[in-house]
Amino acid sequence: MDKKDVVIVGGGVVGSVLAAGLLAKTPFNVTLIDAHNPADDTPAPGFDNRVIALSRRTVNELAGLGITLAAASPEPIKHIQVTDKGAAGFCELTAANYNIPAFGQVVSLSALGELLPSFLDSPRFTHVAPDTVSMLTQQHDKVSLALASGDEVSADLCVLADGGRSGLSEQAGFTREQSPYGQCAIICNVQTSEPHSGNAFERFTEQGPLAFLPYPADFGDQTRKGHGFSVVWTVASEQRDELTSLSDARFTNELQQTFGYRQGRITQVGPRDSYPLILNTTRELISHRCVVVGNSAQTLHPIAGQGFNLGLRDVIGLVNSTVDTEDPGAYSVLDKYRHCREGDRQTTVKLTDALVRIFSNRYFPFLAGRNLGLLTLDLLPAVSQEFVRLTTGYGRQT
Ligand SMILES: Cc1cc2nc3c(=O)[nH]c(=O)nc-3n(C[C@H](O)[C@H](O)[C@H](O)COP(=O)(O)OP(=O)(O)OC[C@H]3O[C@@H](n4cnc5c(N)ncnc54)[C@H](O)[C@@H]3O)c2cc1C
Repeated sequence: MDKKDVVIVGGGVVGSVLAAGLLAKTPFNVTLIDAHNPADDTPAPGFDNRVIALSRRTVNELAGLGITLAAASPEPIKHIQVTDKGAAGFCELTAANYNIPAFGQVVSLSALGELLPSFLDSPRFTHVAPDTVSMLTQQHDKVSLALASGDEVSADLCVLADGGRSGLSEQAGFTREQSPYGQCAIICNVQTSEPHSGNAFERFTEQGPLAFLPYPADFGDQTRKGHGFSVVWTVASEQRDELTSLSDARFTNELQQTFGYRQGRITQVGPRDSYPLILNTTRELISHRCVVVGNSAQTLHPIAGQGFNLGLRDVIGLVNSTVDTEDPGAYSVLDKYRHCREGDRQTTVKLTDALVRIFSNRYFPFLAGRNLGLLTLDLLPAVSQEFVRLTTGYGRQT
C-alpha cells in the first residue's frame, strides 16, 4: 500500500488549483483522483462550457500560487450595470472610479482546464484518472481510500473536492443540507452589434437574474472580436425544456426581449447548456483527517458569481493552514482551516441565498425595496463601496 501525504478526490477547477497550490507552497506529495478519463474527447464535467467571472482578489490569489491566466485569454470587467426589468432600479459602476483597472476577469472553465496541468508538473504529483473512490475509511493516523479499479491509496489528509454529489462526504461523517431553488441556469455565448467595451450586465427579471459577461466569443469571425458575451440566464425549472429547444432565431428573440437593446441587437447565439440550481452545503468543514472544499463544501446559485471565488478562498485557507506543518491531517491544522473559513463561507452562502430570494420575488414591497437598493447603490458611495468590495473581494484601492 502506497502512503501519500495529501490525496485530493476530484480534479475539477478547485481540486486542480489546490493540487498546484500545495505543490508550490508545501513539501507534500499530492495525489489527485478524478472520475473523468483524460483521453476522452468529451469535456471533463469540471471543465465544461461554463464561463465564469473571477474577482480581482481571485486573480491575485491565483498569481500568488504561481498560476497566471494570460494563456486562458481572460477578458477584464471594467464596468458593471445592474438593472431591474420593468422597474426604476438602475446602478452603474466603473472600475476606474475605484482606482482599479478591472473588477475581475472572465474566463472559460475549458481554457482553465487546458492551462492547469502545466502547474502540476512535479515529481511529487500523481494523477489517478479515470478512477473513483468506492470506500473511504478514517483511521487514527491516515485515511484509506479503496478505488473502483481495485487499487488502494492512503494519505495523512484527504481533501474532498468532488463537487458534493458522490456520497463520499457522508462516508466521512459530513452532514449535507440541500435546498433546491426550483430554477435552472441556461448558459450560451452570444454576439451583439455593439462592442462589449468591458461591460458586464446583471438584469433582474420576473423569471430570475440574467447576466451578460464580456467574453471573447467571436464565432470564428475575427472581425467580430470584442462583440462577444457569455450569458447566464436563470429561469424557473419548468421553462428549461421550452427555452433550450427553441430554434436559434426564437431563442435570440426571447433573450433580446428580456435583455433589451443596451448592446444593440443580438446577432448570433451559440449552443445552450443548462444546470439545475440548488443550495448544497455541508454543516461541517472538517472531519477526522478530511476536509471539504469548493462545491463539495458549498454549491451556490450563480446569481453573484461567487462559487469558484469562494472555493479558491477555501484553497488558499487550506494551503496556508498546512504550510510549515509536518502532518497536514493533524487536528490542529484542520481546526486552523475551519477557523479561517467559517465566517467568510457563512456570509457568502447567506448573502447569495438572500439575493436569490429577494431578486426572484415580484411581491411589491420587495420590488420597491430592491429598486431602492439599486438606486442607493448608485447614489451612496458607502453602499456602492460595499458592493464593489464583494465583487472584487477587496475594498477601495488607494
Ligand atoms: C451557470 C453557472 C455559472 C457560474 N458562474 C460563476 C462565476 O461567474 N464565478 C464563480 O466564481 N463561480 C461561478 N460558478 C460556480 C463554479 O463554476 C463552481 O463553483 C466551480 O466550477 C466548482 O468547481 P469544483 O472543482 O469545486 O467542483 P466540480 O466542478 O463539480 O468538480 C468536481 C470534480 O470531482 C470529480 N468527481 C466527482 N465524484 C468523484 C468521485 N467519486 N471520485 C473521483 N472524482 C470525482 C468530477 O469528475 C469533477 O472533476 C458558476 C456555476 C454555474 C453552474
